[in-house]
Amino acid sequence: QIRVLAHAPATPGDLRIGNERFRALGVPAGAERELALIEPYSTIDRSVEHRQLLTLAAGASTLAALAAVILLLPRRLRARREPRRSAVTLVGDVAVAAHDPHALLPVLLETAVVATDAVGGRVIWHGEELASIGYRSANELGLPLDDERGDARLVLYAAQAFSPRDLEILEALVAQGRIALENARLHGIVRRQAQTDELTDLANRRRFMEALHYEVARCNRFGTVVSLVLFDLDRFKRINDRCGHQVGDAVLRGTAHVIHERVRETDLAARIGGEEFAVILAGTDLEGALAFAEDLRNDIAEHVRVERVEWPVTASFGVAASHEECVVDDLIAAADRALYRAKAGGRNTVRAAT
Ligand code: GH3
Ligand code: MG
Ligand code: MG
Repeated sequence: QIRVLAHAPATPGDLRIGNERFRALGVPAGAERELALIEPYSTIDRSVEHRQLLTLAAGASTLAALAAVILLLPRRLRARREPRRSAVTLVGDVAVAAHDPHALLPVLLETAVVATDAVGGRVIWHGEELASIGYRSANELGLPLDDERGDARLVLYAAQAFSPRDLEILEALVAQGRIALENARLHGIVRRQAQTDELTDLANRRRFMEALHYEVARCNRFGTVVSLVLFDLDRFKRINDRCGHQVGDAVLRGTAHVIHERVRETDLAARIGGEEFAVILAGTDLEGALAFAEDLRNDIAEHVRVERVEWPVTASFGVAASHEECVVDDLIAAADRALYRAKAGGRNTVRAAT
C-alpha cells in the first residue's frame, strides 16, 4: 500500500511531513511517480548554527567590541529559534557599537566570507581596498555598501557559484552594514558639531577644555611642556557698533582663517568666547609660544581684512607655559592675567605670564 505524504516542489522549497519540516526538491520519475530529495531542517539549522559560531569567532579577532556581544551569544541562540537572524542581529549590534568604518568593515567582510563559505573577499572603502582575505576566483559577487557614491563595496569570491541561501545571508549582512555605515557617518557629524564652533569652524570651548586637561595631564606625567596662548580682539565692540553685527561676525571668521593658517597640526585652536580665542601648543615652551604669539599678532593685524572696517583689526595676547605639577585653572588664570596686562599696556601686543 502506497500513501502520499506530500508533493515535493520542483524547485528547492519547504515541505512538511507530520511535525517535521524539510528542505525538498521533487524530480519526476516515470508517469505517476516522483522522486524527492529531502533534508530535515533540524540538520540544516545545526549546520547554520555552526557557521554562525565560526562567524562570531572571526569577528571577535578583529574587534574588541565583539567580546561583549559574544558573551550574549549562547543566551540569544537559546532564546530565539532562528540562528541565522540572531547572527545577523549580532553583527548589527556590533556595528552600532563600533561607529568606525575602519574597524567595522573588516568584520563585515570576515563574517560574509565565513557565513557563505566564500574562498575570499575584499572590501572597498572610498574607492580603495580597506581589507582583503582569502583569494580571488572567477565567481565574483560585488555588493554596494553605500547608495550615494558607490565607492564602498563588498566583493566576494566563491569556489562554485553562491547559492540562493548564501545570497540571502549576504543580503541581510549588507543591509546591516549599510545601516552601520550610515550610523557611523551621522555619529561623526554629531560628534564634530559637539566640539566645533559653528561660526568659525575652530574648536569650541568644550573641546578646548578637554584638550587642555589632556595635555596638562601628559605634561605632569611625562615631564614635558605645554603652552597656552589666549587672545582677545581689540575694541571689537566698536566694529559691531559702527559696522553691524554681521560685519563683526565676518571679522571673527577672518581671524579664524588667519589662525588656521598659522597653527601646526599638533596645535589646537579654539574660539572660547565672543571675540576670545586660544591656542594650545603641545611640546612648546614659553619662549617658543611667545614667538608664535608675536607672529600671529602680526598676521591678524596685516591679513584680517573685512569690507567697511577701515582700520586694522588687532588682538592682545597673554601667554603661559606649564610647570611642574601644573593645574589647568592656574595655567588659564596666568595666561588671562598676562592678556589683561597686554590690554592695559595699549593693546595689539603680547605679554608673558610672570
Ligand atoms: P577690548 O579691546 O577691551 O577687548 O574691547 P572690546 O570692545 O573688544 O571688548 P568688549 O568685551 O567690551 O566687547 C566684546 C563684544 O563682542 C561685545 C559683544 O557684543 C561682541 N560679541 C560677542 N560675541 C559675538 C559674536 O559672536 N558675534 C559678534 N558680531 N559679536 C560678538
Ligand atoms: Mg575684545
Ligand atoms: Mg572679550
